[in-house]
Amino acid sequence: MSKRAIIVGVAALVVAAFVLDVTGSLDRYLALVFPPSALSPAYLKGKYNQGQPIRLLIVPGHEVAVGGAFYRDFWERDLNIELSEKLAKLFRSDPRFEVFVTQDRSGYLPEFAEYFENNRVSIRTFYDRLRSVMRSLVSSGVVQKKTDGVHHNTAKPELGMRLYGVNKWARDNAIDIVLHLHFNDYPGRPWNGPGKYEGFAIYIPEWQLPNFEASHDIARSILRELARYFPISNYPPESAGVVEDQDLIAVGANASLEAAGILIEYGYIYEPQFANTKLRSAALSESAQQTYNGLARYFEGMTAPARGTATLPHVWTQEIAEGTKNQPDIFALQIALSRDGLYPPAGKSRDDCPPSGNFGPCTRNALRAFQAYHSLRSTGKLDFDTILKLNQLYAL
Ligand SMILES: [Zn+2]
Repeated sequence: MSKRAIIVGVAALVVAAFVLDVTGSLDRYLALVFPPSALSPAYLKGKYNQGQPIRLLIVPGHEVAVGGAFYRDFWERDLNIELSEKLAKLFRSDPRFEVFVTQDRSGYLPEFAEYFENNRVSIRTFYDRLRSVMRSLVSSGVVQKKTDGVHHNTAKPELGMRLYGVNKWARDNAIDIVLHLHFNDYPGRPWNGPGKYEGFAIYIPEWQLPNFEASHDIARSILRELARYFPISNYPPESAGVVEDQDLIAVGANASLEAAGILIEYGYIYEPQFANTKLRSAALSESAQQTYNGLARYFEGMTAPARGTATLPHVWTQEIAEGTKNQPDIFALQIALSRDGLYPPAGKSRDDCPPSGNFGPCTRNALRAFQAYHSLRSTGKLDFDTILKLNQLYAL
């Protein structure tokens, strides 16, 4: 090899390594089997910068007949639907996005119900073809089968076929981003009590799949915003926040999606801010807002100014004693102090101190720090002077 060729080769590797800095290693790049999806980060950002709306498909998880996890008196699907309504509203108020939603409270919207019904055969063929290609790639060793992933309940065959139907619909309708909404559960918990883990996790296609790159970058951006207010899952396989998965149909198993595929588990179903009806709407609004912020900031670029919360402005009207639980005022206090870096208090993580709406030691210590910062008497209580200051800062 000539010296010149070596220099060019090395330069190309440096450029490739630079381009890939956040999305994966060079080894991974050289090992790619599928050509990367045409819906690359560069394509999506170019489209956005030219003022063409980004086509977003929102898929609230589970179905009327089988609503996912169940806790006390509600189904996971109830949360997914309420969250999808809030998300759709946010994205529809922004002309840079064009929004589609698969279902509402009563089931699939006619467009999707009819699509599944009228395309039974072609969805089946779509799946069979993709799966046989993937199987031969795996058996010939070209694609490495990932066996160490997080275990998910396997979708029932008809549901699985509808999920492939969603992916085919997304292809047929030039969707750019597919966003699946879920809440997690911990199987070992008592039937009416909380389980071992808490926090959110974002699933994306495993790196060998063609839609990995944009999915990864968008997921990182959403992670950054959600993590300002909500704990990242403390279930060890999810603790990085963004989790690659080869088998989830939702994010494009068997190379079935061209669009970026993102599945968010927003938290565990028994976490107080989601399980308690006095807090749920506020917690879901904040989850939706930070998801929107993450996507918007992905396109605007990291230098764009931070975006707001759904919870603020908020007016505090009453003193609340330590030990009080499920209090919207305490949830709002935790969000306000999170925004300004005072919650969780020093030495604690967001896993120790989630935005629970419960007034315990986390809130007491954060209040002390807030009071010290504003030269108020350091009581750790939500007292009159503190309420006055909070309203001065966060009520407008
Ligand atoms: Zn689910």
